[in-house]
Amino acid sequence: MKMLLGHEWVDRSDTIDVRDPFDNSLIDTVPSANAEDVQIALVTAYAARETARKMTTYERSQVLLKTASIVADNLEDFARTIAREGSKTINEARGEARRTVNTLTISGEEAKRLTGETIPFDSFPGGEVRRGYFERVPIGVVLAIPPFHDPLNLVAHKLGPAIAGGNSVILKPATVTPLSALKLTEAFIEAGLPAGVLQCLTGHGAILGDALVSDKRVRMVSFTGGLEAGEHIANRAGLKKIGMELGSNSPVIVWKDSDLEWAAETCVSGAFWAAGQNCIGVQRIYIHRDVYDRFRNDFVARTKAYTIGDKMDETTNMGPMITEAEAKRVESWVAEAVEIGATVLTGGGRTGALMEPTVLENVPENATIHHSEVFGPAVNLYPVDDLDEAIAKANSVDFGLHSAGFSNDLTICHRMAEGLDSGSVIINDSTDYRLDSMPFGGVKNSGLGKEGIRFSLAEMTEPKVVCWYLPGVG
Ligand code: NAP
Repeated sequence: MKMLLGHEWVDRSDTIDVRDPFDNSLIDTVPSANAEDVQIALVTAYAARETARKMTTYERSQVLLKTASIVADNLEDFARTIAREGSKTINEARGEARRTVNTLTISGEEAKRLTGETIPFDSFPGGEVRRGYFERVPIGVVLAIPPFHDPLNLVAHKLGPAIAGGNSVILKPATVTPLSALKLTEAFIEAGLPAGVLQCLTGHGAILGDALVSDKRVRMVSFTGGLEAGEHIANRAGLKKIGMELGSNSPVIVWKDSDLEWAAETCVSGAFWAAGQNCIGVQRIYIHRDVYDRFRNDFVARTKAYTIGDKMDETTNMGPMITEAEAKRVESWVAEAVEIGATVLTGGGRTGALMEPTVLENVPENATIHHSEVFGPAVNLYPVDDLDEAIAKANSVDFGLHSAGFSNDLTICHRMAEGLDSGSVIINDSTDYRLDSMPFGGVKNSGLGKEGIRFSLAEMTEPKVVCWYLPGVG
């Protein structure tokens, strides 16, 4: 595919192969943008911020709703692209494509709810002769940098609110999964988005990133990805807004009075969705000792029943990791944990990029797989005796995006909701739950700022005050 640079779809002699991680087959190639392309993108986006700003609320909303309907009309095509270039099975990919329609629809609706407020200038002596208000105006040029594992919906989570807010956007998709982003860009253009308001620049973040991120014409960097790249970008950004949606290491507490079967069912899905490459995937489960054996046996049996393999096969539960190198990393983290005392209850093996769904217990706290983000199909089980102990252990890592707790006792649920230190606490479901309109973002090393359309829209616009001096009034 070509990339959208300036006002045109362009090729470059330098290209990047986009391969299916299941069998390494070549799906397509995309241009590898260079330093000159970065400058074209910046000049174009800076000029197009005026075009974007002048679009009426109605026009922005219509473009977003039309884009949503294009995705809806071509759902299977989008789903196949997600599944082929990434790790998701075709069924998981269909789910992501459906959510993308939702994300764009919400964006189209929220565009019309972007309002300001009157300001009580007479609330201080001397203000009797002043009247005024603030409105929310576009921030300008937004640089959108999404990760690989939700290659369509997480792109929509940036483009939707950026366009709803009247901004121009430079999108730099993940190098391994650029095709879904390019197709979504095509849909926006087909829906009537004016030229230049959106560009999609394909290429390596490590090569293009600094010039984009540090440029003063960019007023906001909206980043979703790992801590390392996030910190690098934050250090380079200079005086601009940054939205940081980073990784996590999500804990779940299963109390003794829970619906244990439901907890096991939904936590297995939450641990292995997208082969565990999921920022809100379940990584650590703290289970009341009285029900530990029962929960563990059910959890392991359900994991063993998982089918792994060809993503395009309708019956496959879990596909490969994004690369063989990533699968090797998870395999080595499992081996390290075992070496210092952990037990593998099931899984642990690897064939190419296919890492088996893996369940561990007796994992020491100094094991990398305990304290770092695994971002792969491995989950740790721990028995606990006391709720305060469970909450303290759940909170003991440097991340805090989602946490979850299961119990049928309201007081226990409240204690978990109040005690768990994360952006969201999910009660009686796994951490792997998100509504696309809810505020979404983490504490600690999980990030800064919130996504979820209304909340991104607030980040991607700024209040502008209009104050009238009216000596005839008051
Ligand atoms: P990543 O390696 O950090 O890459 C994310 C994006 O940043 C990619 O587009 C990448 O481009 C780009 N990038 C890398 N270095 C850059 C630089 N120096 N300047 C500018 N851009 C740069 O993350 P990933 O492996 O794709 O995604 C997995 C991570 O995302 C996990 O840690 C996960 O938890 C996190 N995540 C967080 C959330 C959330 O909302 N909190 C949601 C989803 C995922 P290239 O592909 O070209 O390197």
